[in-house]
Amino acid sequence: MKAEIIAVGTELLLGQIVNTNAQYIAQGCAGIGLDVYYQTVVGDNRQRLRETFALAASRADFVIVTGGLGPTQDDLTKDALAELLGLPISIHGPSMERIEDVFRARGLHMVESNSRQANVIEGCDPFPNDNGLAVGVGLTHKGTHYVLLPGPPKEMKPMFDRYAVPWIRAVMGEEAVPLHSKMLKFAGIGESNLEHRLIDLIDGQQDPTIAPYAKEGEVSIRLTTRASSPAEAERKLAETERVIRDRVGEHLYAVEDVPIERVIVELLSRSGKKAALAESCTGGLASELLTAVPGSSAALVGAIVCYTNAAKRDLLGVPESLLEGEGAPGAISAETAAALAERVMERTGADYALSITGVAGPAQSEGKPVGLVYIGIAERGKPAETEKLQLSGNRGSIRLKAAKQSFYRLWQ
Ligand code: ATP
Ligand code: MG
Repeated sequence: MKAEIIAVGTELLLGQIVNTNAQYIAQGCAGIGLDVYYQTVVGDNRQRLRETFALAASRADFVIVTGGLGPTQDDLTKDALAELLGLPISIHGPSMERIEDVFRARGLHMVESNSRQANVIEGCDPFPNDNGLAVGVGLTHKGTHYVLLPGPPKEMKPMFDRYAVPWIRAVMGEEAVPLHSKMLKFAGIGESNLEHRLIDLIDGQQDPTIAPYAKEGEVSIRLTTRASSPAEAERKLAETERVIRDRVGEHLYAVEDVPIERVIVELLSRSGKKAALAESCTGGLASELLTAVPGSSAALVGAIVCYTNAAKRDLLGVPESLLEGEGAPGAISAETAAALAERVMERTGADYALSITGVAGPAQSEGKPVGLVYIGIAERGKPAETEKLQLSGNRGSIRLKAAKQSFYRLWQ
């Protein structure tokens, strides 16, 4: 079955507000297997509303409208649809009582227009508005199913979830297929690189769908399938996961929506090993992420934030010759990253150590470019390894990516 989402409001056309309602409704439709073929935006104009509803009814089974249910003259959604369908408007008793109660409780005088919010189209199923006054509408007329929802998101979302979705599902019957999805989480690889390596799969996808996205220094892929049974879904998702693993498995750290620091804490606690950190440009962010995970005390000894060269020298004993002076590699260097990791491991007695030193920006440091970061990884009994990164983004995202990347190295 097909749906069209119509957002009503001149302020949407003017770009004064963003059409987040359409996004929310579209995601909800996907969740029940209702295909959205069109999304339309139309201003508060009676004639154009009628035309828009008529066009939608000609090409969709479900016409889902948001906005224009309020009390004012420019709130025309119910009137325009009733006119188009040739159906009378009537007053929904319980909604009317509610509006009267609210006005009485607030000591306000109710005017004629306020009662418009209790209007429904005759023969419809009214949807209660738990967070506002305008009642919603579910209506089937000549084979088309209309859903009218308020514009304010705090009213629209609960009405959609609690009343409209069950109504739609009931109409759809067996066609309301639940979607099954699986989250794959990646580290040590950027979104564009990940997409590049999977581009033929992403372009050729049908079922399961493969949706990559990046947020807060992490890259994820959501696999979604419409299989008819949970077992069938499980099989299809596992098959697609296997194909993706063959390509980029070395970066796949979890098959559920968990941050990498949680995986690190679990791995360390399970093995009975502990890590320590020496942080320069991240200023304690990596330790903050790790200690935010419950149970991190079983995985972390501690961390030293050594921001200045003096702190690196005095707190951890990094040799002056590495940090400053003629021919010194500097604080932002592989040599210093290695020294930081080895020394914080020694001083704390940890089994593993991570260090992070780099240029978070916005200005260069030591004449080195913004985004240049060195990570040090030390393991008891082995010389420290280092990795040089050139990260993009603003100060916040460079720091976050640096911390996440250090976790990825430890995970490896
Ligand atoms: P009201 O009783 O507030 O008039 P309404 O149902 O008539 O509600 P509108 O007048 O169309 O709804 O919109 C009211 C407010 O709701 C808008 O000013 C805007 O802040 C928000 N809104 C409306 N439509 C959308 C949308 N599509 N996406 C996000 N926000 C919206
Ligand atoms: Mg309004």
